[in-house]
Amino acid sequence: MKKVCTSLVIGMLLLIASPSVQAGGTDGRLDIYWVDVEGGAATLIVTPAGESILIDTGNPGIRDPQRIFNVATQEARLTRIDHLITTHYHRDHFGGASQLSKMIPIGTVWDNGKFEDMPDDPGEEYFTFKAESRQVISPGTQLSLKPNGEITRNRRIPISLTCLGTRKQFIAAPRGAKANRAICEDARAKDRDGSDNANSVVMLLEFGDFRFYDGGDVTWNQEAKLFCPVNLIGRVDVYQVTHHGLDSSNNPLVLRSVLPTVTVMNNGVTKGCAPEVFATLSGTPSIQAMYQVHKNMRPDGQVNNAPDEFIANRKADECEANFIKLSVAANGRSYDVMIPANEHRATYRTVKK
Ligand SMILES: [Zn+2]
Repeated sequence: MKKVCTSLVIGMLLLIASPSVQAGGTDGRLDIYWVDVEGGAATLIVTPAGESILIDTGNPGIRDPQRIFNVATQEARLTRIDHLITTHYHRDHFGGASQLSKMIPIGTVWDNGKFEDMPDDPGEEYFTFKAESRQVISPGTQLSLKPNGEITRNRRIPISLTCLGTRKQFIAAPRGAKANRAICEDARAKDRDGSDNANSVVMLLEFGDFRFYDGGDVTWNQEAKLFCPVNLIGRVDVYQVTHHGLDSSNNPLVLRSVLPTVTVMNNGVTKGCAPEVFATLSGTPSIQAMYQVHKNMRPDGQVNNAPDEFIANRKADECEANFIKLSVAANGRSYDVMIPANEHRATYRTVKK
């Protein structure tokens, strides 16, 4: 009994003394939320130090910005978005930005700016909404983020978000990188890179050993530059299924190169989750769980879905707006994936890289 009391007292003292045990977004954990924007994209990252990065803002109108605002303020307890990254200029990715900027302060906007031969123009409203600053993102751009994870070997576990490629340009091969020969031999092209999807910003978030890949809507032939001649991404734990699960993206050789444990698809009721992509994911042996923002209910009958437990929104209407949350432990060694509305929770171990 005495022992229990002593450890309780020590525990309480630790709670008071340790800066890593705090409420809200500064608890040392890395959180990622997939907001349901009905087949658009809105991925909210909250770092262990409580800094926030929103990747894409869903569709125009009030629905998606409101949903992002709700998750940001009520779930993540944020009062501002520190960094907003727009992967490309399609309305399901940039559409909610201007409205969102009227609801919550936005720090730095990172995007492709105005560039030569821009296939799609988001318009002046997008380029002039209120933000503290605007920066053009380029291959190799790294956001400056404060570490606040666990301390190992006298230093906090590092955190970084790096742009691997954008506007069809990619980072140089790391020194000493081996040729990805077997995979390059299997590469074949697809003929569909005309729109701004091909210019998407491709990102890698790293927290200790934990690695998360978000390639926006980058298309098949651009994806090939990520694994051929060398693997520029390396192995990841979590793969955001590119382009809502459409088959003009998600080159199976990317999956063979990055070998994720968990995938999250930001699909809609009738958008994405293409049979070819579903087959690619199902055929990737490293994948332990495939999450979907929506149950796919396309009327064409070509419907594949993960088990219901892994799907946030299972009804055909647009009312539920259930989000998926991923939370990485302060030591980076494991992470939980949750669908709070459905009381789903599963823990995965970070792969040692
Ligand atoms: Zn899209």
